Amino acid sequence: MIAIMGAMREEIEPLLEQVSAPKAHIIGPNTYYTARYGTQEVVIAYSRIGKVNAAVSATVMIERFKARTLLFSGVAGALSSDLKVGDLIAARQLVQHDVDLTSFGHPIAYLPETGDYFSADRTLLALAQEVAGSLNLTLKSGIVATGDQFIADEKKKRWIAETFKADAVEMEGASVAAVCAGFSVPFFVLRAISDAADMEANFSFETFLASSAKVSATFVLEMIKRLA
Ligand code: SAH
Repeated sequence: MIAIMGAMREEIEPLLEQVSAPKAHIIGPNTYYTARYGTQEVVIAYSRIGKVNAAVSATVMIERFKARTLLFSGVAGALSSDLKVGDLIAARQLVQHDVDLTSFGHPIAYLPETGDYFSADRTLLALAQEVAGSLNLTLKSGIVATGDQFIADEKKKRWIAETFKADAVEMEGASVAAVCAGFSVPFFVLRAISDAADMEANFSFETFLASSAKVSATFVLEMIKRLA
């Protein structure tokens, strides 16, 4: 079983449109859809926004649906000036920018027995580059910072970019990564840029959510075809 997750309905709608015979399962506050995509069995869900919600959905997908690979598809704010609206970024590493135990002498973002940076699966990252090549598309990979905040401020943006060497910011990736790492499930987080995490971020996000979510979903489905 392959899990595909998003945070918002808009992020999974383009996936549900492409799969066959989706069957809905309601577990707690979320609906999970089992379906087929080509020869693959998939489970698809949106978690709702934020780290806690995303961690719950990832756990349910692994424990209840026995997902053995998890792909996250969604949108993010760009920190790096190389990333423009609609561009894709694959997370090579993910970090929680709102974790701070520095008063105990730990590095910023570090949690005891958990760590700080989570690494995405290398085989899935390589597969993504292969898919990008065959679609004639550039796929950047980099560090994605996650926290329970919508970043729409130059100062905060710069702090996150510099402190964590991060290229993009969102609200779920690192928590999904932490769950997958804990359960030894290979994972991959893909984001298409919806905004630049600056003063105009709210407007840009609302304008480009649907189109960027679709860019990301289409790419992830292409990866799933090749996971067969
Ligand atoms: N439209 C929602 C809020 C969206 S929150 C509402 O008003 O109800 C933003 C979502 O997109 C999160 O799931 C997050 O992962 C992602 N995201 C996109 N741009 C972001 C940014 N600049 N900062 C943080 N998260 C961002």
